[in-house]
Amino acid sequence: MENCIFCKIASGEVESRIVYEDDNVLAFKDLNPQAPTHILIIPKKHIARLSESGEEDIKLLGEVQHAAAKIAKQLGLTDFRLVTNNGKGAGQTVDHIHYHLLSGRRMLWPPG
Ligand code: AMP
Ligand code: ZN
Repeated sequence: MENCIFCKIASGEVESRIVYEDDNVLAFKDLNPQAPTHILIIPKKHIARLSESGEEDIKLLGEVQHAAAKIAKQLGLTDFRLVTNNGKGAGQTVDHIHYHLLSGRRMLWPPG
């Protein structure tokens, strides 16, 4: 998708600090970390947000979650939060689906 910052990161056009990559999934460090560990996990395919995913994306979204589990294991994280913001009102600022993997500090519940 043209002019999508995360598509540009996925294609390598924009630099990022990659922590995990496979054929369909990329994970990189968030530029503005909200916790000691703050990693963004994306499908390389452009999907604007979770609510715009379709039946054809079920396997891909499973791969994204599984990548989160693998990264957490690799980093030795037992306690972490995995969250996706869907829509502006929920805090979404980049219109390419992404999951925040957050860890290393106490997480509040309910979230703000
Ligand atoms: P959200 O507010 O859920 O849409 O999350 C977007 C996240 O992307 C924010 O936490 C930003 O800090 C992060 N972000 C934006 N641009 C970049 C970038 N070029 N590299 C890494 N993280 C980014
Ligand atoms: Zn995109």
